[in-house]
Amino acid sequence: MSAPIMIFLGTAGSGKGTQAQKLSENLDIIHLSTGDLLREARDNKTELGKAAESYIAAGDLVPDALILDLIKESLTDPKIREKGCILDGFPRTIAQAEGLSSLLEALSISLDKVFLFDISLEETIERLGGRRICATCHRIFHIKHNPATAESHPCDGNLKIRVDDTEEKIRYRYTVYQEQTAPLIDYYRSKLVTLDASEAPDKVYETIKGQIMALEE
Ligand SMILES: [Zn+2]
Repeated sequence: MSAPIMIFLGTAGSGKGTQAQKLSENLDIIHLSTGDLLREARDNKTELGKAAESYIAAGDLVPDALILDLIKESLTDPKIREKGCILDGFPRTIAQAEGLSSLLEALSISLDKVFLFDISLEETIERLGGRRICATCHRIFHIKHNPATAESHPCDGNLKIRVDDTEEKIRYRYTVYQEQTAPLIDYYRSKLVTLDASEAPDKVYETIKGQIMALEE
């Protein structure tokens, strides 16, 4: 049985990043967050990182092809086949999903499951208001649902609210995300598992874990 290859779809505040982080820690599955990959590439000043930086500095979106190249680098790591992976933050559009499908096919990696973290706008606003991100290790916490403790956050870096977590920006992002994601639901229909992301994080975690265990049987 090969290790599970999964995609997590969900808006900011749906808890997908937190769940991916937890699965990665508990089940040793590799968490490929597009945001983290971009940050690492920029910090390490790799060729792709420098290219991404030039777009970001100009205020442009990093092109899909560049993000796909970053993902490709990660997916060619032999550990992916051994441990499995969660793609978090990509794809967001049909064009990206098609690019990813071609990449997976070229690497002979088959996608097992796509988890959709379903959540309402109201719940998203409530959650993001309490979200805190570590300036040092970039881990995400929540003052109510996932507080930073000595155990959960050994780095003890500075916890900050993101500048784009205002209600207006949250509403805008949510609407854009819903519009972009709707076609993906259909695209991944045969592999899609819809999660009620408004449930307690522990319950959502158990549901995902159950699905992963069922894959490995
Ligand atoms: Zn930290």
